[in-house]
Amino acid sequence: MIQEPEGQDATGDPRRRIPRTDDLLAHPQVARASGTLSDRVVRDLVHAAQDRARAGEISPEQVLDEVLTALGERCASSLRPVLNATGVIVHTNLGRAPLSTAARAALQDAAGCTDVEFDLATGARARRGAGARAALLAACPAAEDALVVTNGAAALVLATTALAGTGEVVLGRGEMIEIGAGFRLPDLITSTGAVLHEVGTTNRTHLADYEQALGPNTGCVLRIHTSNYRIIGFTSEVPLAQLAGPCRTAGIPLVADLGSGLLAPEPRLPAEPDADTALRAGADLVLASGDKLLGGPQAGILLGSSELISRLARHPLARAVRADKLTLAALEATVTGPAPPVLTALRLDAEELRERTVRLAERTGGRLVEHDGRVGGGGGAEVPLPGWAVALEPELAGELRTGEHAVVATVREDACLLDLRCISEEEDDTVIAAVEAARAHVASPRPEPPR
Ligand SMILES: *Cc1c(COP(=O)(O)O)cnc(C)c1O
Repeated sequence: MIQEPEGQDATGDPRRRIPRTDDLLAHPQVARASGTLSDRVVRDLVHAAQDRARAGEISPEQVLDEVLTALGERCASSLRPVLNATGVIVHTNLGRAPLSTAARAALQDAAGCTDVEFDLATGARARRGAGARAALLAACPAAEDALVVTNGAAALVLATTALAGTGEVVLGRGEMIEIGAGFRLPDLITSTGAVLHEVGTTNRTHLADYEQALGPNTGCVLRIHTSNYRIIGFTSEVPLAQLAGPCRTAGIPLVADLGSGLLAPEPRLPAEPDADTALRAGADLVLASGDKLLGGPQAGILLGSSELISRLARHPLARAVRADKLTLAALEATVTGPAPPVLTALRLDAEELRERTVRLAERTGGRLVEHDGRVGGGGGAEVPLPGWAVALEPELAGELRTGEHAVVATVREDACLLDLRCISEEEDDTVIAAVEAARAHVASPRPEPPR
């Protein structure tokens, strides 16, 4: 029970009946509902409710309920789980690769104190992330050593900075990539002082272009996989194996930024480069992201010769882009564990997807339509993944996004398309329930919360 403020309300001003902060904070229901929140956050919610009462938007008697409602809706993290019904497997807006069960368990185990840089047997300090390194080397036998950093962009800036300094990075003109949100890899490379030496033209680059560019100022030759676009028509590029010869003769490292993060060839994506093949072809160092086709946490992975990896690891910038223990744990578990969700979605049997989609169409009264899935920004540019979707009324899309289980669909002018490719079969019923709830809300719009 909340005590009324002391004293008579002689003026009849209802604001004097607004419960006091300390009384609200001490209220057992408030204390129970604030379990995952800090005192400061709870206090802010209490003040917001009191302010609304002071402004006359709610009555003083409604303040407690207002606080309890706000506490009920407030989670410690504002990030909400989302069911990805777009059919786009590596969706950057939705956090890229969803982690495997093994990786989630590893994250949980590493969340407390852990032996990330410590040898429990000897009690001495040990190499950081030795387990993740060993897992990567076992999965990519052509690599002599590995280093894990915060993301693919960090791997690129570390490699070019450590190898070129203020010297030149030789790069084909057709590989000048903007990766998204306005970030351009050429800008990233030059941001630490390296100079870009462009070779070739947009559509064609030849071995002689590279040979002419190599000189005393060359820090490294860089190949960047055009992961989010393709150049077709009258084109030519120099295979890594051909480029390796002149680089080796000149003593210049050949670096391949693969983007996607496949460690070995993936039959479903024959045109996508992989780390093991690139190193065997003659690259001295390969770079990749952890959360694209590798299917793991956000990370940048560098694989290659012991000499280059140790040069990079000793560079001051390496400390600024060091991977944290959670990343190392989830990455190791992704690489050693069963196929992560990204690869399951990629390899999904089309007939199985059809059966699940037919069932979804029957249960939701939607229409079965052909729908190609996509790898997404993570690679496989323009490679369609034939499949199916259920077409529903377009006005359901917003309700699906904001319902109890957020479902993100593809919105077309005439339809809202639900693609089950990136959703596990166990979650199909959740999607069906979400559609039913969305329909119910469209039929009778949710009452606006009092403001
Ligand atoms: C995605 C990508 C990057 C950037 O990697 P992040 O992990 O997103 O930082 C760099 N290079 C290529 C070729 C890419 O595809």
